[in-house]
Amino acid sequence: MLQPFVNATVVDIKTVNPQVRRFFVNIDGEGDFAFKGGQFLTLDLPIAEQRNKRWRSYSIASVPGVGRTVELIISLQPHGLGTTYLFEQVQVGSVLSVRGPQGVFVAPSQVLPTTLLVCTGTGIAPFRSMLPQLLASGTEVHLIFGCRELQDTLYKTEMEQLATENKQFFYHPIYSRSQEPQVKKGYVHAVYKELLQYKAVTDVNVLLCGWKPMIDEARSHLADWGLPKQQLHFELYG
Ligand SMILES: Cc1cc2nc3c(=O)[nH]c(=O)nc-3n(C[C@H](O)[C@H](O)[C@H](O)COP(=O)(O)OP(=O)(O)OC[C@H]3O[C@@H](n4cnc5c(N)ncnc54)[C@H](O)[C@@H]3O)c2cc1C
Repeated sequence: MLQPFVNATVVDIKTVNPQVRRFFVNIDGEGDFAFKGGQFLTLDLPIAEQRNKRWRSYSIASVPGVGRTVELIISLQPHGLGTTYLFEQVQVGSVLSVRGPQGVFVAPSQVLPTTLLVCTGTGIAPFRSMLPQLLASGTEVHLIFGCRELQDTLYKTEMEQLATENKQFFYHPIYSRSQEPQVKKGYVHAVYKELLQYKAVTDVNVLLCGWKPMIDEARSHLADWGLPKQQLHFELYG
């Protein structure tokens, strides 16, 4: 059964770049806000008359078990009704109407030797949330993060530090438009294809998160590679 909408107060907003902001929202209620890494919230925004036209979903980017303030990382969509409202009208102290947690895009129940996390832009949110659980399960984790320019990288320092501290975690950022000499150029597909050359199909869970063109292309490559359906998990943002 779907939960009711409850109030959530925006307690902080951090601008990452002109297109991306981190919203920290404190959800009304008692105790820790219970959710699994990878789940999302639905916001009811005052952008339309009809209820279901007002709903927008956002993955929780923070980890479970730390109180009732959760982080959402949101990219402004050109002409997007919900994100324009969030970027132009919502400030610290604003009260949002939220429902959740929702969704089944969580750490796979069957732990395999390798887990590939493939995302573009704010699609990194659910992975950041589920990383501690994945690493605790013992699987080797590769985070493949794609965006256009170096300055669009999300949680760069944090992911680099995690890779330094944790021998099981590998961070692979890739840039489609960057001219910087030191970065890897291209799309996420080249990265997982290269990694998979050295893996057996039975040993890998692949989780995809982002927008339709990336997910469709990845699903097609992974099906060609022979990845069993139950080892492929994805969250489609739109
Ligand atoms: C489970 C789930 C989790 C998600 N998590 C995240 C997340 O963590 N972070 C995140 O950033 N997004 C996330 N999304 C996407 C998010 O829910 C919204 O779809 C996204 O923010 C766009 O909403 P919007 O109201 O701004 O755009 P909408 O108004 O819904 O428009 C959608 C698109 O249509 C185009 N469009 C709309 N109106 C026009 C127009 N008049 N002319 C031309 N083009 C137009 C816009 O370019 C826009 O990109 C998630 C989606 C799902 C389903």
